[in-house]
Amino acid sequence: MIFPWTLSQWQQLVQRVNEQRLPHAMLFGGIEGLGKLDIARQFAQSLLCQQPDDNFMPCSQCRSCAQFEANTHPDFHLIEPEEEGKGIKVDQIRGLTEQFGLAAHYASYRVAIISPAESMNLAAANSLLKSLEEPPENTLIILVSSHSASLPSTILSRCQRVNFDSPSADMAVNWLNKHHTGLFDGEIGGSERAVLAMANGAPLKAVKSVDSELIKQREQMFSLFLAVAEGAESPLGADKQWLKTGITTPIQWVYSWISDLIKLKVNLREALVNLDKSADLQKLAQQVELGSLYRFLDNILDILKKQRAPLNTQMIMDDLLLDWKTLTASVEHTHYR
Ligand SMILES: [Zn+2]
Repeated sequence: MIFPWTLSQWQQLVQRVNEQRLPHAMLFGGIEGLGKLDIARQFAQSLLCQQPDDNFMPCSQCRSCAQFEANTHPDFHLIEPEEEGKGIKVDQIRGLTEQFGLAAHYASYRVAIISPAESMNLAAANSLLKSLEEPPENTLIILVSSHSASLPSTILSRCQRVNFDSPSADMAVNWLNKHHTGLFDGEIGGSERAVLAMANGAPLKAVKSVDSELIKQREQMFSLFLAVAEGAESPLGADKQWLKTGITTPIQWVYSWISDLIKLKVNLREALVNLDKSADLQKLAQQVELGSLYRFLDNILDILKKQRAPLNTQMIMDDLLLDWKTLTASVEHTHYR
């Protein structure tokens, strides 16, 4: 599967094939949720296909494609952790190098994808290194990694890197609306940009987020955020249920609302991320001062920095909402004075 934001990488790959300068090892790097594994699989299928088209897309009809699509192609190996959340073991890599030592079944390419590559333990990485140092003919190993900085430098230096970046917000929103029609309907209508921002701009991660509790949590948090500003709700005792999964996500939401409030204060309305909340944010913007918003934002950044240590999430949230209440209340009072 090739997405609009992976098109240029695809063209790069095809060009390497056409110029017959395909390396033995490549690293597909970039954040999670951009479809790196999808494009790696597509490329593998095309390399193995007996009659790819002019754009190097697989024919989906030859024997090789049939086997590939049935996950039974003898010259294709997808190495993933055997159990979710566990590492890739040395035996898996040894099995692969043994396969690569044998002749190819169809005398064309042999392709392996290792994903996520950073989940290889040290022994597995060392075993792979041997293959990378003495690569067999007509083989390609594609490492797929969203955290390539944690791969050993000995491996990184032997792979040609292909970088994947997040698409522009416009491209991502267009794609979401076209390919996931109805996903952002109803009460979350208009939240595409906010959800994308939470997913670091990665559209596939955004799609996953929508199905999760994340959206509900955002709604609850925003209601509380408003109610505290209006004095309708106590800033103390935020719902323990949604603090259970940690405080980072709720704090990131608050960060994005405060950033939007600042944008409204400095007339950068077109840069708003939380479009679905723009009416409420506009009202809030009149209730707060720019200087206080900047101070509040610094405060949030401090909390996010301290995330590594175990924290009393309830206390942090209480402090944050108390601060927010003071900030919104003080301006209201000066109005009426
Ligand atoms: Zn084919």
